[in-house]
Amino acid sequence: MTAQFQPSRRTFVKTVSAGLAAGIAAGGFHSSKVARGDQKKSLGVALVGLGSLSTKQIAPALQKTGNCHLAAIVTGTPEKEQLWASKYNIDRAHIYNYESFDKIVGDDAVDIVYVVLPNSMHEEYTIRAAKAGKHVFCEKPMANSVAECQRMIDACKSADRQLGIGYRCQFDPHHQKCIEMARSNEFGTMRLIDAGFGFKIGDPKQWRLNKQLAGGGALMDVGIYALQACRYLTGEEPISITAQETKTDATKFAQVDESITWTMKFPSGVMAQCATSYNFSGMNRFRAYSDNGFIQLDPAYSYTGIQGESSKGPIKFDQVDAFQLELQDFANCILENKKSRVSGEEGLKDLKVIEAIYESIRDGKTIVTS
Ligand code: NAD
Repeated sequence: MTAQFQPSRRTFVKTVSAGLAAGIAAGGFHSSKVARGDQKKSLGVALVGLGSLSTKQIAPALQKTGNCHLAAIVTGTPEKEQLWASKYNIDRAHIYNYESFDKIVGDDAVDIVYVVLPNSMHEEYTIRAAKAGKHVFCEKPMANSVAECQRMIDACKSADRQLGIGYRCQFDPHHQKCIEMARSNEFGTMRLIDAGFGFKIGDPKQWRLNKQLAGGGALMDVGIYALQACRYLTGEEPISITAQETKTDATKFAQVDESITWTMKFPSGVMAQCATSYNFSGMNRFRAYSDNGFIQLDPAYSYTGIQGESSKGPIKFDQVDAFQLELQDFANCILENKKSRVSGEEGLKDLKVIEAIYESIRDGKTIVTS
């Protein structure tokens, strides 16, 4: 997709939130094991990959965060360098390409590297960023396999850097309210979750349909939202998984999954029935049924317009920018030396289930995960 740039706005928001300022004033932040930049009021973020998400969501969100800001870019497209430099007032010294990326080690303006590349590149850039002494925020899915996720976690751990995954829904108040209602048994014991996310994918040549780059299809890209919802509503990991796949266009979806349905059983007895597709839209929801009522979001996973309902009535909050909130939270975790709730370990747990779903499809059997 073509980048849609707004008129140049050279404003850097570097003001620090009141809570953060109070924390700094109180001298409450850990200092010995954090990077030089962690003592700053606003942490510098380097965006790696200036595609659709970086252009339309992340860079605009970084203008609103307060405790972090866009400080550097990494791109393989020379034309984007000048566009981004002038739009976001980025000095030449903080512009990298994929070959020069490792020089970021000497860039004190950068504290966090945000990896927004095709899925198969997440591991490499996370590890290179950690080796350069930077904290890493990485888009979902974390990587293409559990093994890759583990290597990313290990690299950040041995560099003593934080690793966070872009699970923005966990920062939306509608999702947070549903988690609270589900975990407090607001309507009695939860029994069943029905969740799904799909859309009709366009351009047959895009990387999302290339197995080497994407790792998989609809499941890796959007099914992961439904899977996450089941995990955060229950607060549990599934113990058995059964899945099946349907392919109606074997040319377009020659390399990756088109549509998958799967069921999961959780230790408490909750059952989940989930679906994902690249071949139809309109499925963007979850509904959790308990003994005495239900909670639901539909649409659940969009950037805007989330609608919630329960047996008690609407679940309604003001619109938020979940990208802004997830970035603020990650910067705060670094500044306060707290582990992110959307950690690398959290990303690995999703990949574990995704691998079990693919294994169930391949072998035609239920996978018992614990
Ligand atoms: P995109 O195709 O718009 O951008 C990908 C970027 O990677 C481009 O700038 C491209 O030039 C660059 N790139 C470098 N090497 C490449 C290669 N070999 N092939 C293709 N592109 C290459 O993709 P996107 O929609 O910005 O997605 C990027 C990441 O963000 C993916 O992991 C995706 O799953 C994730 N994502 C997350 C959300 C969310 O809501 N959290 C939404 C969309 C995408």
